[in-house]
Amino acid sequence: MLNFTVGPVMSPEDVISVAGVSAPYFRTPEFSKTMLENEEMFLKLLNAPEGSRAVFLTASGTGAMESCVMNILSDKDKVIVINGGSFGERFAMLCRLHRKKYTEVKCEFGKQLTRGQLSGLEDHTALLINMHETSSGLLYDMKMVSQFCKENGILLIVDAISAFLADELDMTELNAAAVLTGSQKALACQPGVSLVALAPEALKRINDNEEVCMYLSLKDALINGVRGQTPFTPAVTILLQIHKRFEDIISCGGTKSEISRISKVAEQFREGIRDLPLMIVPENPSNAVTALTPLSKGAKEIVRILKEEYGIWVCPNGGDKADSVLRVGHIGHITYEDNKVLLDALCEMYISKRL
Ligand SMILES: *Cc1c(COP(=O)(O)O)cnc(C)c1O
Repeated sequence: MLNFTVGPVMSPEDVISVAGVSAPYFRTPEFSKTMLENEEMFLKLLNAPEGSRAVFLTASGTGAMESCVMNILSDKDKVIVINGGSFGERFAMLCRLHRKKYTEVKCEFGKQLTRGQLSGLEDHTALLINMHETSSGLLYDMKMVSQFCKENGILLIVDAISAFLADELDMTELNAAAVLTGSQKALACQPGVSLVALAPEALKRINDNEEVCMYLSLKDALINGVRGQTPFTPAVTILLQIHKRFEDIISCGGTKSEISRISKVAEQFREGIRDLPLMIVPENPSNAVTALTPLSKGAKEIVRILKEEYGIWVCPNGGDKADSVLRVGHIGHITYEDNKVLLDALCEMYISKRL
């Protein structure tokens, strides 16, 4: 199957081969060294500020989101949640569950967040945003958001789960206190590990806050991380894959070359569908995904035909968008030739009036 979903995505050969062994025992100096290098490489790729730390949780991306809400925020916070789709909604639900005071800023599906929507919220203390709202494919105006947070001394927590390595992200420039990502998006490893980078501002909060959980405790993860270990058994092979992937990216010149590769794959796809009855949903699409509204046929049927007749996975949307939106991912090991196979399939479907 050719996989154009938004994760898990196709991995490069050398990353796949890392996982083809029994997991090695991990309470060893060798694995500690790998983990210390993972932390260092992740912080370097994010351009994290001096004094930052990173931890690796054996949990999907949502685990990292929940751990940030539980460990970094406190009852004293007044949180802004940017909600422009199902991932923004997830942050709102986490604040609700963990009893944080929050204000939701709702964005219309696929529409850019404006400065005007934030006015009146200057007295808040933290802001949660999904840099790329993967459900609509919209990339938020992070410069504006970061500026707003800087001006008002608001702690910025960025869910970059589908943005890291796909769109430009500089943690220092954004002045972000925390940046999270996952193993199965543009990192293109197996699903199961989420990564959390923490600037000194977030580290201080984690230290000062009372511990409220065990498995997702960032304090515990940080303490163990000093010696390159994790509190509990981690997804060892995925962490080895991440190490391989980081090394590859750094040896190819860092995030820039990876972002440029993905953006070219996205551009080629968008160019290829110009004459097809598919409308791009977001105002400002990310490089990672193109969300599309089919103009003449249902999204579900298109997803089914691609899967069953062409051996191609694209992503259906959920909820009330299930039949009106589908998403084509550009992350993972996708080549121009793969893109061409998908575009040819879509053209053929159009000619036979099935698109
Ligand atoms: C994929 C994704 C997540 C996390 O999803 P998991 O299934 O928990 O890995 C969170 N936020 C965004 C923006 C995502 O794209």
